[in-house]
Parts: sequence; C-alpha cells; structure tokens
Amino acid sequence: MAGSSSAYDVIIIGAGAAGLMCAATAGYRGRRVLVLDHANKPGKKILMSGGGRCNFTNLNSTPANFLSDNPHYCISALKRYTPQDFLELVDRHDVEYEEKAPGQLFCRDSAKDVLNVLLTECEWAGAEIRLKTQIQKVREVNGGYQVVTGSGVLSCESLVVACGGLSIPTMGATGFGYELARTFGLNVLPTRAGLVPFTLQPELKQQLAPLSGVSCPVDAHCHNEHFREPMLVTHRGLSGPAMLQVSSYWRPGDEVHINLLPGQPIREDLLALRKQKPQSTPAQYLNQHLPKRFAQAFNELQGWHGPLQGCSNQDIEQIADTLGNWTVKPAGTEGYRTAEVTLGGVDTRQLSSKTMAVLDRPNLFFIGEVVDVTGHLGGHNFQWAWASGVAAGNEA
Ligand SMILES: Cc1cc2nc3c(=O)[nH]c(=O)nc-3n(C[C@H](O)[C@H](O)[C@H](O)COP(=O)(O)OP(=O)(O)OC[C@H]3O[C@@H](n4cnc5c(N)ncnc54)[C@H](O)[C@@H]3O)c2cc1C
Repeated sequence: MAGSSSAYDVIIIGAGAAGLMCAATAGYRGRRVLVLDHANKPGKKILMSGGGRCNFTNLNSTPANFLSDNPHYCISALKRYTPQDFLELVDRHDVEYEEKAPGQLFCRDSAKDVLNVLLTECEWAGAEIRLKTQIQKVREVNGGYQVVTGSGVLSCESLVVACGGLSIPTMGATGFGYELARTFGLNVLPTRAGLVPFTLQPELKQQLAPLSGVSCPVDAHCHNEHFREPMLVTHRGLSGPAMLQVSSYWRPGDEVHINLLPGQPIREDLLALRKQKPQSTPAQYLNQHLPKRFAQAFNELQGWHGPLQGCSNQDIEQIADTLGNWTVKPAGTEGYRTAEVTLGGVDTRQLSSKTMAVLDRPNLFFIGEVVDVTGHLGGHNFQWAWASGVAAGNEA
C-alpha cells in the first residue's frame, strides 16, 4: 500500500500512550506509519499524569487490577508485554524513576521523560506524527481504510483507533473512538467516569467542610471490592486514592463503606478503655488514631458526648460499628471533568485478545482506553496502554 505520500501501511488515530506505543512497534516492523491527532501536542495525558510525574507502570500489575465486562480479555496482552518490558525500555533511555508506593513507578523528574521515550522511539522507528488534524470521516475502501481529514484524504491498509476515553475533555478527549466503533457495527458498552472523586449530599458536605484537606488511611469498599489506601476530604466531597479506586465500582445510589481504623480492634479497644479509664471519651480514642481535625469533626458529626463509663455495651457496639463501617451515600461523582479514566467502551467480545483487531475485520484495531478495559489506580492504566499498543503494533 505504501507508495504515494497519502498512502500508509498503518494509520493510528490518537497520539496518546497507546497510539505512540503502537506506532513505534509497527514502525520497527518496517511498516509505514502515520499517527493523527487533533490536539496541538502529543501525549497530553501522559504529561498531566501522576501529578506531572507519570506513574508509568505497576510492578505488581495482574489482570485482577482491571475492570471489564469480559475480564479475561486483557490477560493475553498483559502477559506478552509486562511492566518489566516497559521498565527495560525506560532504562534504555536512562529515565530516572522511583517506587513511590509498592510497585508504583513514577518518573523522578518529570512525565516529559516518558513522553520523550515514546517520541524518540517513534522517530527511530520512522513513524510520522501529524497533529492539529481534524478527522472528518473514516471509510472502508478495497479492504483498507480511507481517512478523510481537514487537510486531505489519507489511505492505509490497517487502521488503529487509539483515541482514548471521555475523561478530561479539556485535554482533547472525545467520544470519536466510540462513534467509529459504532460506524463499523461494533457494540459499545455504556461508559462512565472512573477513578473520580465523590460529591456529597449538601448536609454531609457542609458537616465535613471544615475537614477539607485532611487525609487519613482507611479501608473503603463498595460491592465487596476493598481498597486500603488514604482518603482525602475536599471542599467538594471525598477523594484520595481509596475513594478514587472505589468510584470505579460505584453506581448511582450505592453506599460506600469506610473503615476509619483499619486493622484496629475497635470494639475490644473501647471495652478495655471503658474498664481501664472510664472517664475517657470516644473523642479521645479517636484522637489517638486519626488526624486531630478529623477526629474532632467526626465526633461532632456523630454527636458522641460524655465518657465511656456512661456507654452501654450496645452503645460501644454502635460506636465501633460507625468507626469500622462508616456508611456514606455519595450524591454522585465529579464526572468526566476530573475522572482519570472512562469505564466501559468498545466491547472486547468483538476483538481478538491477541492482536486487538476486530474479529471479522482483521485490519481494524482498538487499543488503550477506548476499549472496555480499565485499570485500578497505580500505573495499571498505562500498562494496559503499552501492552495493547504493542499487541496491535505487532500485527497492524
Ligand atoms: C489526570 C490524570 C492522571 C492520570 N495519571 C495516571 C497515572 O499516573 N498512571 C496511569 O497508569 N494512568 C493515569 N491516567 C490514565 C491514563 O492517562 C490513560 O489511561 C491513558 O492515557 C490512556 O491512553 P490512551 O492512549 O488510550 O488515551 P489518551 O492518552 O487519552 O490518548 C488519546 C489521544 O487521542 C486523541 N484524540 C481524541 N479524540 C480524537 C479525535 N476525534 N481525533 C483525533 N485525535 C483524537 C487525543 O487528543 C489524545 O492525544 C491518568 C489520567 C488522568 C486524566
């Protein structure tokens, strides 16, 4: 197919994490590759990720760290391109990194380092990147594809859709990948914001407002998916890693259960305290284990007054239950505006788990976040972008 200037072997729509990885992989195979993006810069989400330092992989990533309607789909690609493989790549480029939490690798300096790795690899592999390109139409022609852009018609043998999800529209996110999938008759599973802060009902929001900025380690769960990580109270609601993780499992109307003192035998502690220091209060107990501001406000919220000696066994039971299973019914989430990922997307039952190609269209590929595979917080989403990008790049 290569020959004229507008004919490529592979066109990739989306110069993000998955698209750039795919471009380099296909380029190294000798394919003539063009990456198209409507944005003015490639890899904008990489640059803003991990607080500007890009949590680029997770050494402990397993398929259990991913949500999908078809949970086995991601296994093959993740197995064939592992966190260690990406680590070797960043090592080859002398990127300095650090493990900020167990398994979570971040750039020591800046997320730019990871983007530079990908752009350098694309350059070495001879893949061309064309930005500020509006894609008007994609059509199938003679077993290949034509991509109609604002600046001309391009053609390719293989088309890779890597245009991400709906999160952070200000960074260039669009639903274009889903539209394309539908155009080609594919099923798109309902999308929703994931890894996103919760908003609260006005009353609770007001009660917790003085705690804005306070963080404490909790065990939070929803639909029996537990996350033992910090929770952060914000002026809008509840955030922090524990809440972001749980948000991916949460549906409107669900309750979120929060153990404020994970690992602590709360009931036994309170019973012992009542016996040994009957004058002590639940507030004092909380003060020992939680940040002071949080302890005070939570105590106010619950209206726990007076010493433990005035508490019956049933009262103690109730206090222990509230601390160990504080139940919050969020009003909603902050939505795509601040979500790190989009859940749902192109139904993987129609794709090859080995190549990411559509089962009955072997030269049309969907990779990265546009597909119904979503990782937990902690570098898993980039690992999926790399792994799915490599899988498609080896075939496209
Ligand atoms: C604030 C934030 C922080 C994050 N931090 C981390 C982290 O530290 N670790 C981690 O693993 N994950 C993180 N993520 C998630 C991660 O960024 C995504 O999972 C990953 O970028 C998905 O890669 P992708 O290539 O599929 O999509 P993207 O990286 O979103 O790339 C899609 C590309 O397609 C382009 N595009 C979209 N529509 C069109 C169109 N119509 N025409 C042409 N081009 C189009 C976009 O401009 C973009 O360049 C974070 C996300 C956010 C929002």
